[in-house]
Amino acid sequence: MIIVMKPDAAKKDIEHVLKTIRDMKLRPHISKGKERMIIGAIGDERNLANIPLTTFAGVEKVLPILSPYKVVSREFKKENTLIRVNGVTIGGKKIVIMAGPCSIEGREMLMEIGKSVKSSGATILRGGAYKPRTSPYSFQGMGKEGLEILKEAKHLLKMPVVTEIMDTRDIDLIADYTDIFQVGARNMQNFSLLKELGSTNKPILLKRGLSATIKELLMSAEYIASKGNDKIILCERGIRTFETETRNTLDLNAVPVLKKLTHLPVIVDPSHATGRRDIVATMSMAAIAAGADGIIVEVHQQPEKALSDGEQSLKPDEFKQMVKAISRIARAIGRTI
Ligand code: PEP
Ligand code: MN
Repeated sequence: MIIVMKPDAAKKDIEHVLKTIRDMKLRPHISKGKERMIIGAIGDERNLANIPLTTFAGVEKVLPILSPYKVVSREFKKENTLIRVNGVTIGGKKIVIMAGPCSIEGREMLMEIGKSVKSSGATILRGGAYKPRTSPYSFQGMGKEGLEILKEAKHLLKMPVVTEIMDTRDIDLIADYTDIFQVGARNMQNFSLLKELGSTNKPILLKRGLSATIKELLMSAEYIASKGNDKIILCERGIRTFETETRNTLDLNAVPVLKKLTHLPVIVDPSHATGRRDIVATMSMAAIAAGADGIIVEVHQQPEKALSDGEQSLKPDEFKQMVKAISRIARAIGRTI
């Protein structure tokens, strides 16, 4: 339920609404717009069914939320959510480019890739230290040692970093090293992980599950937001279809659909969506044209030697050319890079 307060609502009127929500065992979620305050009542709305909220002083109107997700819905908040991470804003006019290797493989390699992607226009560095591999015999990531390297790169290059978290037990550890937690496709419905991350205050990059619907992605975002953390970046990274020419099928429909349904920023991962270096740049351009707020791309100086996802990793020079291409698209639609 959404309670829209009048622009001149007094502090005590607001307090009264908040207290009533809490007394009825719901959680108030406050959103301050330019003119007025909007209060979301999170929880079982039936508890408020007999409370005449519309007659309360300072209340302008009361709206039920029709979608199963509430805090993350456009109904709840009209303006786009802007997520600020160490000087980089995600969700604004400026397109955000996150780039780096699939896995952190060593100090030199990460510094080199980081420096290179930064000079080409990336503003956030990616790198996995804990890798969700299909085979238990594949490289599983460098773990804590990888995190140390990532943190060093963050300070040296003055770039915010994003890395994947797979296990609730690692939250405190990874929080010391990363600016953004990445929840991978395979963990999109790891509800205990989502709930725990909802109690942190770091932005979460939530990737769409391999066979998750858009609604399921939004419900997972709601898990995080309902615990208090609404700094969520949604990521379309391709879904499983019958097609075998590409690793996954990039569902570009998801971008404009999500922008309608939610106020959260939406980015696209053309690397995992395609699995093919030769079409990553084209699909990045398409993603920006479709209205994505950014992209996350895998880059490796020697993709043929990469310990994971080499076939979809761009070489530094290819990445540079791709950024130029998407900056032309961005300009054409009134955005910048
Ligand atoms: C990754 O970013 O390297 C990754 C494993 O992505 P996804 O969860 O989308 O497969
Ligand atoms: Mn990868």
